[in-house]
Amino acid sequence: MKYFILFGPPGAGKGTQATAMVENYNLRHISTGELLRKEIADGTELGLKAKSLIDAGALVPDEIVEGMIESVFRKTTGVNGFLLDGFPRTVAQADALDAMLAKNSEEVTAVVSIMIPDEMIRERIKHRASIEGRADDANDDTISNRIRTYHDKTEPLVEYYKGKGKYHEIDGTGTIEDVRKAIAALMDRF
Ligand code: AMP
Repeated sequence: MKYFILFGPPGAGKGTQATAMVENYNLRHISTGELLRKEIADGTELGLKAKSLIDAGALVPDEIVEGMIESVFRKTTGVNGFLLDGFPRTVAQADALDAMLAKNSEEVTAVVSIMIPDEMIRERIKHRASIEGRADDANDDTISNRIRTYHDKTEPLVEYYKGKGKYHEIDGTGTIEDVRKAIAALMDRF
């Protein structure tokens, strides 16, 4: 099985690019953000716990997202692999993912990182807010916190995966089509 990680700051275009990636390579898309929003919409206990953290632009506890990921791995059949979108977001989650995969003698195939500069993050999130209506896209304090959380907790993963020789960066500032082509050229190598 292939395990691709779609990495990048909020607003980099991960969700936008994921659709073509999963179709072209027959992957199962797992977005932890989407799974959490579904829990909230369904009014589950987990959703209730996650909501205040998401609304504040903070991360939900590692064990929650790790459990979600492992459960989808276990249930999914008939695909060539997985596209992890928004996971891992901390070094602890990356270690947990390695451990999960190692149990079945598997490993992360590649990290596809879509990179945009900080000043573009805010612009892209504001634009998405007008289209998707996500509560955490609409509030300036929440956006600031998400950017800070990304730099503090998630960006260390760049060095983590570089150290393992798995990190591949794509320039996310171009058009959707430019970025799509760059990702396809990269993924064709695996
Ligand atoms: P996203 O849709 O990926 O932007 O995620 C929306 C929000 O869900 C994030 O701001 C976090 O609060 C939460 N979230 C999503 N994925 C994770 C994760 N891997 N670890 C912790 N929190 C997460």
